[in-house]
Amino acid sequence: MSQPVKLQFTPARPKMPPKHFADLTRDERIAVLGELGLPKFRADQIARHYYGRFEADTSTMSDLPEAARAQVAEKMFPVLMDPLRQHQTDDGETSKSLWRLHDGTLLESVLMRYPDRATLCISSQAGCGMNCPFCATGQAGLDRNLSTSEIVDQVRNAAAQMHSEGSRLSNVVFMGMGEPLANYKRVISAVRQIVAPSPEGFGISQRNVTVSTVGLAPAIRKLADEDMSVTLAVSLHTPDDELRETLVPINTRYSVEEVLDAARYYADRSGRRVSIEYALIRDINDHDFRADMLGKKLHDALGSKVHVNLIPLNPTPGSKWDASPKARQDEFVRRVRAQGVTCTVRDTKGQEIAAACGQLAAEER
Ligand code: SAH
Repeated sequence: MSQPVKLQFTPARPKMPPKHFADLTRDERIAVLGELGLPKFRADQIARHYYGRFEADTSTMSDLPEAARAQVAEKMFPVLMDPLRQHQTDDGETSKSLWRLHDGTLLESVLMRYPDRATLCISSQAGCGMNCPFCATGQAGLDRNLSTSEIVDQVRNAAAQMHSEGSRLSNVVFMGMGEPLANYKRVISAVRQIVAPSPEGFGISQRNVTVSTVGLAPAIRKLADEDMSVTLAVSLHTPDDELRETLVPINTRYSVEEVLDAARYYADRSGRRVSIEYALIRDINDHDFRADMLGKKLHDALGSKVHVNLIPLNPTPGSKWDASPKARQDEFVRRVRAQGVTCTVRDTKGQEIAAACGQLAAEER
């Protein structure tokens, strides 16, 4: 069962992009504009374009003096990502975008339209160092952290898309490529820009922003101390340490118990229910005893402040693993609920466009 654990926290050769508007504090923006001879009120004006109208093309910012637009573009709006491919599915309700970053690394984001909301799934790193064997991103390793602006600009692009469709981006989930809490500072800065009201941010409600983690316990506690109320999702995938060490190798550092303790701290500080992610894998983690153990451990650790999200495994190319049969899944749900824990099965939008975790980027490579 055991396999060598190779975890990467720091990318080998980070090639971060040039500084962008969304990497700068308000004071830094004012300073850059000052160097161009522009007064400080221009900073808020540009922020209204970026966060309020989802524009990053200064040539359309008609209230900026025409002579300054090219300079502002050069200093503050480097091209962060070029669209490489887009796939549509679910009758156009789901679109997955593959972007090429300045240094050639690949990035994915997925936009899912529902009758009552639109959810964007974003990446926090190019690749991932956590090495979970069932995840396509995990197989390729970590390329580098994304900059704050590379995270924020995924949101701006999707918000612009929804706006052009006469609708609105309502939810953002950090469930694309990467481990968000391993790129902590940039992710927190991005989250603040996602939730801040215009003109400081996109004004998306905190409860509609989900940060999903493999369970870096100290970083979960730190997130709790930020005093935000974003939704925390923990990718547990099994309630026992022995199996979890193979499914989520970082478990050798932070055990199930430590992760659930940190999740409890987050629930207490934020007042929010914690989401537990559980990819159901046939004959690997879908047994009755694991369902019972999961329900019991979660109930003991978190009481009513927890919800289980079962994800039918989306097999990665060449994988020997598969999703559990429907009857097994139903019995698993029933057993978790019998322990007093709410449990639902995640819908699998976008499956046929490989919209799970790095699969599109893996195909491209
Ligand atoms: N690193 C973070 C976020 C990225 S993945 C985390 O692990 O939470 C978002 C979710 O998709 C995680 O719960 C992850 O375990 C799950 N996932 C990854 N590959 C999957 C696959 N092939 N099928 C189903 N779920 C998968």
